[in-house]
Amino acid sequence: MSTVDIESVLKEKRVFKPSLEFSKSARIKSMKEYKTLYQQAAKNPEKFWGGLAKELDWFTPWKKVLQWKEPFAKWFVGGKINASYNCLDRHLNTWRKNKAAIIWEGEPGDSRTLTYQDLHREVCKFSNVLKSLGIKKGDRVAIYMPMIPELAIAMLGCARIGATHSIIFGGFSSEALKDRILDAEAKLVVTADGGFRKGAIVPLKENVDQALKSTPCVEKVIVCQRTKSPVQMVAGRDLHWTELMAKASDVCPAEKLDSEHPLFILYTSGTTGKPKGVVHSTGGYLLGAYITSKWVFDLKDEDTYWCTADIGWVTGHSYIVYGPLANGATSVMFEGAPTYPQPDRLWEIIDKYKVNIFYTAPTAIRSLIKSGDEWPLKHDLSSLRLLGTVGEPINPEAWIWYHTVIGKKRCPIVDTWWQTETGAILITPLPGAIPAKPGSATLPFPGIIADVVDKEGKPVKPDQGGYLVIKKPWPSMMRTIYKDPERFKKQYWTQYQGMYFTGDGARKDKDGYFWVMGRVDDVINVAGHRLGTMEIESALVSHPGVAEASVVGRPDDLKGTAIVAFVTLKTKTSRSDELKNELRQHVVKEIGALARPDEIRFTENLPKTRSGKIMRRLLRDIAAHHQTIGDTSTLEDISILAKLREDEE
Ligand code: ATP
Ligand code: MG
Repeated sequence: MSTVDIESVLKEKRVFKPSLEFSKSARIKSMKEYKTLYQQAAKNPEKFWGGLAKELDWFTPWKKVLQWKEPFAKWFVGGKINASYNCLDRHLNTWRKNKAAIIWEGEPGDSRTLTYQDLHREVCKFSNVLKSLGIKKGDRVAIYMPMIPELAIAMLGCARIGATHSIIFGGFSSEALKDRILDAEAKLVVTADGGFRKGAIVPLKENVDQALKSTPCVEKVIVCQRTKSPVQMVAGRDLHWTELMAKASDVCPAEKLDSEHPLFILYTSGTTGKPKGVVHSTGGYLLGAYITSKWVFDLKDEDTYWCTADIGWVTGHSYIVYGPLANGATSVMFEGAPTYPQPDRLWEIIDKYKVNIFYTAPTAIRSLIKSGDEWPLKHDLSSLRLLGTVGEPINPEAWIWYHTVIGKKRCPIVDTWWQTETGAILITPLPGAIPAKPGSATLPFPGIIADVVDKEGKPVKPDQGGYLVIKKPWPSMMRTIYKDPERFKKQYWTQYQGMYFTGDGARKDKDGYFWVMGRVDDVINVAGHRLGTMEIESALVSHPGVAEASVVGRPDDLKGTAIVAFVTLKTKTSRSDELKNELRQHVVKEIGALARPDEIRFTENLPKTRSGKIMRRLLRDIAAHHQTIGDTSTLEDISILAKLREDEE
């Protein structure tokens, strides 16, 4: 049997160093500086994290930096802190008082700017609203809203009084909403009359009404007006946001909370299966979000920073709200979709607000590549100085496009690897210090001890694939799965003793750079070779005709497993058997015969989670002609499954 756990076949050799100019003014300026930080942190992690935590405001200092009883961590034990205070109050006695905290752009083109002072006032009022409805420290509040400033106000309002928020992405159905409300036993739901989505209206309130038919835990509903669509208000249960806020006082001191107090619960994307209710703490989480925002995005006071994620996902929690605001930064928040009304919406907004730092997902980048270069070329993108990606491995081809067409070869790209569970970015370039390689998330953040190991937990040799693990606790790590510590242990801490198991496959190259190869669940076993899907997909996407590709295994009598590639083309009309052959040959040329797809299937769209990630588990079922299919509650567009079946030859 092969001792190799996952074979790595992708060969990407390009290296991009930050410009001298960028490095000179960066927060972390050189590889030497990074290495010093990394070594200091590795040698004495508690001193390192403790030193950084002093950059936050604490009501009471901690007694002990870390109490570790695997797998349960407590950080900054005995310390009292409040996340809302750190994002707001502490800026009010500085010149930042009237600085833009949130610049918001609505889908129809309306906009609003809230200064730190404005946001503080609204948050205090909302906290008082919560109190008036009987919400207390420790209660769970479900938030199901469009991307409007009130969403940030609601979450910071909860954080201020110690209510644990559970944000449910506004694209979820009433069924998914119900499950999450019940799991978190939320007492209150905060929602809106509706949300705009590509010109249509998402009936958020209707979905809440449907969900609440079977959620006895919910006592009240707060309804914010966004679309002005008529909604039914249930007497005694449903209340209008504006009416409540009009009566609320704007004085509300922040609660002094234990560092370990649960700030929020958030469910994972569900790419691999049933979502997990990830619980995050206050002090440790906030430190992770704060320091990574500062170092990874090289965030400075004069920057206009924009993360395009939805706050319904962890990226929006950490990198639209908690991280940037704890830094006193200006954070752009956008309600709409990248391609509405036209595929240049993102570029238009960059131009409009002169965005300097831009953070998005590979799925958005690939779809914008498909739309054509004429769209970004119409706009002045010269304000940009740094680009970032998160969510999936980025194919080197998409990276190069992002670098060339958007960054004009001037902006470093930070490919940030992390998870809902990790709370903050763990593997990433520090843009002024670490040279980038397209497709690699590069090196661990200081204080993060990451490795690639084999089945026995032993480190593998350079360039050999294996399992990505984290070997030391870190402040923003998840604390548990809500109400299910056993599942928490089993899911992440039983594979290897003393290591957090990420569920992702990866390799480390000779420079110690990490290349994430996709999820371990997605690895395919072909004639004794275990291949990560990302590498074959990247080879396919490097063909000029291909927009996106997803590769899965199908049981095969002869080979054990056959490789099936689902491919979307840049122009649909080019579908042909010749092209299929050409693509097979292309993979052989890029990787080798061992990765040659046995079957290529053209399709218009790939099934994705609502966070935009490809759901290979569904494609596996389709490739194997299974009639029944696993959990589809997190699937963005159910009709894609039927189309994929129709497309079967
Ligand atoms: P579930 O755990 O429910 O299946 P999910 O893993 O998609 O859902 P998230 O926490 O949103 O939920 O996503 C984290 C995962 O996304 C990582 O484990 C990894 O597979 C992938 N990922 C995130 N960023 C990167 C990146 N920069 N490069 C490669 N993969 C990434
Ligand atoms: Mg996951």
